[in-house]
Amino acid sequence: QFKTDVAIIGSGGVGKSAITCRFVQNTFVEVYDPTIEDSYRRGITVDEEHILLSIVDTAGQEEYRAARDQQYRQCSGFVFVYSITSEASAENTIELHKQLMKVRNPIVPDEVPIVLVGNKTDLEDRREVPKDFVKSFCSVSRRENVPIVECSAKTGLNVDEVFQLMVREIKKR
Ligand code: GDP
Ligand code: MG
Repeated sequence: QFKTDVAIIGSGGVGKSAITCRFVQNTFVEVYDPTIEDSYRRGITVDEEHILLSIVDTAGQEEYRAARDQQYRQCSGFVFVYSITSEASAENTIELHKQLMKVRNPIVPDEVPIVLVGNKTDLEDRREVPKDFVKSFCSVSRRENVPIVECSAKTGLNVDEVFQLMVREIKKR
């Protein structure tokens, strides 16, 4: 069986734990401890192949940088999450991606599998991040093609798709 490790990266409060929890347990909890860094497992079937995903839910704060760098080295794929209600959180994915590139130092950025995720689509009336944010992400990050998905951990909309896309990206390499 194919096993793979995926890290969930993003600013505090964007919904990294909520997305992980929705995917693994199909539940939504209003408040998670923001400091907890843990890993969770779930199997999924992608293109008729069964894959065991180990998901590392990172704490986004700067104090945990050492732990994050460790994951940057160890994981096979990276889910960069922002909230569609926070321009700053979207900008921060660019910064976090830069740090990932520093640690992995690939010949071209596209060698490292990532997926970009805009969470909290249930809060459309508070949207600050345009739907085509991925275009600026790509040009600043010098990537050709980054899969993007907008989801809501609260309603569950598109959460499975995040991990389907992530597995496809990992399997392409
Ligand atoms: P993390 O710091 O990135 O792990 O963020 P959390 O998962 O702890 O979520 C931060 C806050 O945003 C919590 O109050 C969550 O209930 C809320 N939240 C997370 N995802 C969603 C979502 O899809 N929609 C809404 N409305 N709130 C969300
Ligand atoms: Mg969290």
